[in-house]
Amino acid sequence: MTDKTHKSRVAYQVAWFIAIIAVAAMAGMVVVWRAPGVDRYVRDRLMQARGALPPPDEIVIVAIDEASIARFGRFPWPRALMAQALDRIAAGRPKAIAVDVLYSEPTTNEDDRALAESVARAGNVVLAAQLIESPEAGARRITWLRPLPDLERAAAAIGHVNVLTESDGAARELPLRELDDRAVTFWAMALQTMRVGGGVAESAIHELPRGVGFGGRMILTESQRAAATFSARDAQSQAEIVQSERMAIDFIGPTGSFAPKTYSFAEVLDGRISPEVFRGKLALIGATAATLGEQIASPFVHQETADGRQHGALMPGVEVLANAVTTILRARYYRATPDWLAMLCAALAAAATLLLLAMAQGRFETAKQLLALAGLIVVILALSWAAFVWWLIAPPLVPALIAAVTAAPLGLLRRSLATSAELDARIADYERAEDRLTPSLNEAAPTGEFPFAPAALIAGIAEADAAAIFVRVDSPTNHYRLAAAHGAPMAAPLAKSGSARGTLPLAPRLSIMEAVASNDDAADYFSFAAGRRSETLRRALVIALGDAGDPVGALVLAHPFEREPESRRLRLCVEIAASYVTALSLARQETGGADSRRPLAGKLRSLWPRGIEWKARMLGALNRRLLARTLFVDRALRSVEDGLIVADVTGRITFVNPRAAAMFGLRERALIGSDLFERLREAEPGTIRLDDAEMKRAKGERLEMLTRLLVERQPQEREITLGKAPARHYTLRLSAVCAGENGAGAALGIVASLADITRQRELQQMKNDVMALVTHELRTPLTAIQGISELLAEYDVDDEQRRGLNRTINAEAKRLVHLVNDYLDLARLESDARPLYPAPVRAAALVERALALLDPIAARQSIRLVRRFAPNLPALLADAELVSRAVNNLVANAIKFSPEKSEVIIEARADGDDVLIEVADCGPGIPPESRERIFEKFYRVPRLADADAPGTGLGLTFVREVAERHGGSVTVESELDVGSTFILRLPVNPQMS
Ligand code: ADP
Repeated sequence: MTDKTHKSRVAYQVAWFIAIIAVAAMAGMVVVWRAPGVDRYVRDRLMQARGALPPPDEIVIVAIDEASIARFGRFPWPRALMAQALDRIAAGRPKAIAVDVLYSEPTTNEDDRALAESVARAGNVVLAAQLIESPEAGARRITWLRPLPDLERAAAAIGHVNVLTESDGAARELPLRELDDRAVTFWAMALQTMRVGGGVAESAIHELPRGVGFGGRMILTESQRAAATFSARDAQSQAEIVQSERMAIDFIGPTGSFAPKTYSFAEVLDGRISPEVFRGKLALIGATAATLGEQIASPFVHQETADGRQHGALMPGVEVLANAVTTILRARYYRATPDWLAMLCAALAAAATLLLLAMAQGRFETAKQLLALAGLIVVILALSWAAFVWWLIAPPLVPALIAAVTAAPLGLLRRSLATSAELDARIADYERAEDRLTPSLNEAAPTGEFPFAPAALIAGIAEADAAAIFVRVDSPTNHYRLAAAHGAPMAAPLAKSGSARGTLPLAPRLSIMEAVASNDDAADYFSFAAGRRSETLRRALVIALGDAGDPVGALVLAHPFEREPESRRLRLCVEIAASYVTALSLARQETGGADSRRPLAGKLRSLWPRGIEWKARMLGALNRRLLARTLFVDRALRSVEDGLIVADVTGRITFVNPRAAAMFGLRERALIGSDLFERLREAEPGTIRLDDAEMKRAKGERLEMLTRLLVERQPQEREITLGKAPARHYTLRLSAVCAGENGAGAALGIVASLADITRQRELQQMKNDVMALVTHELRTPLTAIQGISELLAEYDVDDEQRRGLNRTINAEAKRLVHLVNDYLDLARLESDARPLYPAPVRAAALVERALALLDPIAARQSIRLVRRFAPNLPALLADAELVSRAVNNLVANAIKFSPEKSEVIIEARADGDDVLIEVADCGPGIPPESRERIFEKFYRVPRLADADAPGTGLGLTFVREVAERHGGSVTVESELDVGSTFILRLPVNPQMS
């Protein structure tokens, strides 16, 4: 891959990465914006997960509870009661007393005055005011329900008791300041209580951009709340800008969390509680009885059941107040994360997801990814919990979770798209490679464009009148479709019926007659074949193609009764038809892929990857085709009659065809992995253990060979001989297998071919022999005859001389005949013109047959032929004539070279599975340098003693040829001036060549 494409790929991936993160983060934010309930729910759960906190010591609640109502009757009570209670509480000198009861309607003067006096006496009482909506003069107005003017004057402060309830009815935030239509504002009661308790003047309250400050305290409000401008609706009143600051209430726990700090109003009034409990505390008076006052849901109350019922008790107003005061006391102000930060967190979560998915690959991928995702979610939850509980931050848990969960499938989708595109690229690679591979024959062409018309060809071969090839369509129904037909009467109905209707049901073992009888269509085009309509009687021959039990098709031939097709030709027809049917069924399996060669389709595909099913189909089809090609090439290589060996550049063998294996006399498996050059060296006959110097030389040769092949790219050729007895000759050709179009690329390996040239070698040898015969052996006697006959013709010679010359002519002519006969015998044997006729014979009889002829000759020289035949000699399987002639040659030589009155010993004995025939004489012996050569054609030991011995030099060659043809051998042991022993070894049960 080039640097540029790599860079663009990285850029592409980064772009995808960023896009997915953006989409995921946005999804998280959209959920928060569109469904704030989800965010609230998560926040409540966080608060619940944090658990309840202990109530602060600074707060005491005086509860107007059920017990108090039972004691003083139904509410509202006479205000004197409250006045008394205030007095009692004030006696304990609390820092402030907050009365969360509205006193906006006058009752009896007495009561009202008593209360006002008590309030004034206490001096630190905060009274409640509440915003209400009231219809007034047709318009809905927001006005304050304020305490009675006397009370208001007596109070240290007025605080509003409004809380912001959200759509689910839960109060989570306290508006620090509220205002009505006339822009009359009141601070929240919690704030006022804290202020009065701290002895800070009301004028000291000041608003700051992020909260409200008073007397050294700073109430932080939730960020992100835009400062709203409120102005009075009254034209006269001045418009005032009021920040709508809200403080998140940090509820210490569910309803009842303040129970340890709560005293019943009745108990306080009855004096059962010592005023001391209020010393230095903030006393909060309010109703807790369920029948009284407003009850609000807190975050600890949540909707859980499907029918929306709430679980957990609702919280009375005074407890909400207590919680608000606690929040200020402990300065536990939750900060909401601004949107940009939430978005950033969401983006981070999405990025982390993508990273984890990228890392969690390989084995058990799905499990790993699920684990990674679960881990990430746990981390997000833990971080959120820590942020909420420890740093009082309302974490962007929802966007983060949603971003993480959204990014996962998007990331996986992107990856699968990328993988898909990658697969497309691989398929394209495959297709490109396919174009360059040798097509298998079966692939020749889909229906129709076959290079030959099979039916016509078959009809021609079988000399039939008509031929039809059927392909089995689907095995369960045993339908056959006509694929090719020849012979007009057969083709015509087919053209009429069309290929779709051209099916005929044909059970595998059904004869054509049965098929014809059971099917109209078939009857139509077999009527000719069956000879119904024709004047000449014809017979149809149906042959199943492939396995007879489960055929792939059928071949139908129609021929006249009197002319049966010849069986060998019929077999050829079946082969051709079967090949055609196989090719057709393979062609049918091919699918799709045609558009890969259309550039536009290719472009579109690179933009948007193909469907996975298409890919699977395509890959399957390609695979099948490539496999078929590979198999075909493999089979072709195996079927080559030459030996083929493929090795890598170091010479290690990777492929051997069966022929090459046979040449080495080894199995294919044994050769694979071994060294080509080593094998070649070992297989050559006469290879013995190499000494160091030779080893070095062999190594040098091998390097030289490799250099020529791989560096110079020159094919190497030489003749080698492999195997022992009989050795065969081969032309070894070595060439480099190279990458690239015209072999210019890197060398991939070496291919060696071994062509058997033994036969050519033999013919060449024979030619040489003839040349030698003519030039040396025939010329001499002919020249002699010519000279003598010339002498006789030209000159007068006396009778005695003439007779001598004539005798010489006769001797030379005899010698010539002898020579020619011997030569022809040998040549016939060598060229297989004289085949072997093996038959079982007794070794003794065989030898005796030869000796019978030689006894008289030996007798002429007073030589005794001594027979020493071992008893119980096994019978031989041999060509009796050839073997006895061979023995004859050996004994004749022995007689020829033996001195007069000597013995020639002929011994026959068994040696293992062989029979040995030994001929020993007391002749001059054979010098060591001649011992191998005497078996060569025309070779005679060059010595004077042999001059008189008539001979052709072909006798021993004949013996050796006979011995080797019988799988045996002939050897000689000799000592000069002592004698020679020729040993003919013949196996009892020979492997004849
Ligand atoms: P020839 O027709 O000359 O005998 P052969 O092939 O039979 O041809 O023998 C080749 C040569 O081997 C002979 O010419 C002779 O020199 C030598 N030779 C063969 N047999 C013997 C033997 N028994 N003793 C000594 N030399 C022999």
